[in-house]
Amino acid sequence: MKKLLGAIEAGGTKFVCAVADENLNIIDKMTTPTLEPERTLEESIAFFKKYKIQKLGIGTFGPIDIHPESPDYGMIQNTPKIKWRGINLYKTFYEALEIPVKIDTDVNAAALGEYRHGYGIGKRSVLYITIGTGIGAGFVIEGETLYGLTHPEMGHITIKQKKDDTFKGICPTHGNCFEGLVSGPAIEARIGKRGPLISENNSVWELNADYIGQALVSYNLILSPEIILIGGGVSQQEHMFPKIREAFKRYMNGYVMHQALENLDTYIRYPKNGQDAGLVGSLELALRA
Ligand code: ADP
Ligand code: ZN
Repeated sequence: MKKLLGAIEAGGTKFVCAVADENLNIIDKMTTPTLEPERTLEESIAFFKKYKIQKLGIGTFGPIDIHPESPDYGMIQNTPKIKWRGINLYKTFYEALEIPVKIDTDVNAAALGEYRHGYGIGKRSVLYITIGTGIGAGFVIEGETLYGLTHPEMGHITIKQKKDDTFKGICPTHGNCFEGLVSGPAIEARIGKRGPLISENNSVWELNADYIGQALVSYNLILSPEIILIGGGVSQQEHMFPKIREAFKRYMNGYVMHQALENLDTYIRYPKNGQDAGLVGSLELALRA
């Protein structure tokens, strides 16, 4: 009998659950909104119970305790989604399904997915950034995802705003941090229209690409990743990529010299697994559970 793996991409708006074979071919998929924790979790458990899955991987929104030795491993912390605070995803699924469960952040999972099954194949390190409802980044080095005291929170770094940009930003904690300026909801607050409805010629894209370029330079200087992948809803604005690369080049100003930076088309790009990067990564977590 074939071994089956389960994966959850636990997002702030929806839980995507999938069952796949050992080669990560998806056999069935189910999506449920991230509303009342009890209901979302029950529906997810019921879905997995239809199959005899052997292991489960979860890539989730946070903040969450992902330290494998912590007594609170898998527990969601001070998220703005109040009802989800204190929910322990590890315990919930381990107790309901009685199988090995591995949990990481959504972005660490996506970075891992690209490292093993995407544009990161053959590289030592991969940085994956999501620009969606929030901004976060995950980092893989030599096959392991990065966590320190907690997981990194790269979406909340400081950005130098353009002189004529008076937008205050929408991060509840910092106002005009990277996420506060550039996330999907920030773009919507700035323009008064949802991202997908804003025309390609709108100057907001150029401005956002400038800020993304600044952030990528900081990430490059601190982590020196071998490749940078940008996913999430906003990354579907493909025309932004050349602008992001141009801003990266301008702010880097030739400081870090490496062959990989000579062709930014392959250094900064859309993930190979596209909008499925998180799910593929969660399946990889299952393999490692
Ligand atoms: P989440 O971050 O909740 O997992 P997404 O990555 O899909 O989900 O991000 C949702 C955000 O991305 C929303 O703010 C939405 O307006 C924005 N978004 C989705 N699609 C696009 C698009 N094609 N262009 C610009 N913004 C988009
Ligand atoms: Zn912030």
